[in-house]
Amino acid sequence: MNGQQGVSRRRFVGGVTSALGVLTLRPEVGLWSQAPAPRRRITLDEYDALAKLSFNENPYGPPESVLDAMTKAFKYANRYGYPDGDIVAELAKHHGVKPENIMLGSGSGEILDVCCTTFLRGDKKVVGAEPSYNVLYSTASALKADQIKLPLLEDYRQDIPGMIAAVKANYRDVGFVYLCNPNNPTGLIVGKQEVARLLDGVPWDVPVLIDEAYHHFVEDPSYATSVPYVLEGRQVIVTRTFSKISGLAGMRLGYAIAPRGLLAQMRPHTTGTINAIVKWGGVAALQDTAAMAWVKKTTLELRGKTVAAVEAMGYEVIPSDTNFFMVHLKRPVQPVVEEFRKKGVLVGRPFPPMLEHLRVSIGTAEEMNRFMAAFREIHAARKASTG
Ligand code: PLP
Repeated sequence: MNGQQGVSRRRFVGGVTSALGVLTLRPEVGLWSQAPAPRRRITLDEYDALAKLSFNENPYGPPESVLDAMTKAFKYANRYGYPDGDIVAELAKHHGVKPENIMLGSGSGEILDVCCTTFLRGDKKVVGAEPSYNVLYSTASALKADQIKLPLLEDYRQDIPGMIAAVKANYRDVGFVYLCNPNNPTGLIVGKQEVARLLDGVPWDVPVLIDEAYHHFVEDPSYATSVPYVLEGRQVIVTRTFSKISGLAGMRLGYAIAPRGLLAQMRPHTTGTINAIVKWGGVAALQDTAAMAWVKKTTLELRGKTVAAVEAMGYEVIPSDTNFFMVHLKRPVQPVVEEFRKKGVLVGRPFPPMLEHLRVSIGTAEEMNRFMAAFREIHAARKASTG
């Protein structure tokens, strides 16, 4: 027993180290850091003690109802052909589509990868905004696929007319359009009229991937989900995740809602490796609307409070409809990220070309207090050094 615990603890610390390795060693991060020195492995306790405000995670974890469902599902851990809570049928019911319109992924990240492997073959390009969810562009780069990235507008909104023009100018070479709504890292939505404009403006057969990872946090009445376009048979793939509102990031469950024809092209590229436990967790999470409402309410209250405190110090914040926000520091962000880290607070990495903006995820009240204390100290030290 002890031996087993020792093994699992070592493995977990290894996992933690590689998770933090992402912060220090990934190429896009390494590029902006001042020759990062190799860091010693941190312990489990040290990891637990960090305020983790860098990956837009849900700090509360899955609610009781979801934990219960997952605990019960452990009895299927040794099976291949296990009951799965009818997760696909439940999702179809939830969205008013047919089961054939749903495809599960090991996180919605897998669906984004699958869109790249499916639609970017044969030298096709992806069209999207910059900055946006960069992992999609990294996958496209790994496949040696070109990316047409439209800079954001002055007010940080996505340039829909620019995207339409880019698709038209490259029609036949465009594999798909990527629209992150709300966008990560800015937190801004694309209103329903702008989405309609995009879909009406691009040739009908160009697939448009609409990433709704942060859908559940949106309050802006001009926003709407793009799921109805799937019912119309438009070439739209909507992605959703259980990682954010439902606190299941580590368990990996996301899905696509799309017309049958598009999913038929995509299915051969999926791994199909979603575990039994999270499928039951997903079904329970869908049903626990009270838990989702609580996460949303608590997150938005804390975001409002934190943003107000940051703005009161004279900083501009991009209005966000998500569980994170961006503050304009008006100086390079990478050294500031390092200063936060020394104070035990992990904040977002640089998002080129917005190299003077800091992205902050909304954690618990205690974590946000620690963020504000660190922010004030860093601000005061900067003031003292610049006179
Ligand atoms: N899309 C966006 C915009 C994200 O920010 C993330 C994760 O942060 C993902 C997709 C992937 O999430 P997951 O694979 O956990 O569903």
